[in-house]
Amino acid sequence: MSWTPEKIELLTSLWNQGWTTARIGEELGVGKNAVVGKAHRLGLPKRPSPIQRRAEEAEQKKAPAPKQQTKGISIFDLGAGMCRWPFGDPGDEDFHFCGKKIVPSKPYCDEHCAQAYLNGKNPREDNPPAHQGAGGKGPQAAAKK
Ligand SMILES: [Zn+2]
Repeated sequence: MSWTPEKIELLTSLWNQGWTTARIGEELGVGKNAVVGKAHRLGLPKRPSPIQRRAEEAEQKKAPAPKQQTKGISIFDLGAGMCRWPFGDPGDEDFHFCGKKIVPSKPYCDEHCAQAYLNGKNPREDNPPAHQGAGGKGPQAAAKK
């Protein structure tokens, strides 16, 4: 088999896309070794071997993820006068409460009172406002037009 410019181009492109040498060989109808040899002769950049890649991934997993510090407070810290709006699911490690100053006689802060109201809104209160009539003009004003 000869390396036509088209095949070399395909090899280069597939190589750069990260295809395995075996897959590229299949695509081009040549053996894996021919692909490796040709890539070497073409001076294509060496790709990390799968083993190296796995090591890198493991390294990344080991790196500590930036832990999000919870700004809220736990149920143990929740006192009187503090917003008890929950964040997350109970049982979650970062489950916490809002803890802001509550609106007097309400269990939540301003913001969460508004949210609670929206969520618990009675659909029947959603009726569109009554249509404005002709106002003070009356039917005569409309008829003049
Ligand atoms: Zn709140």
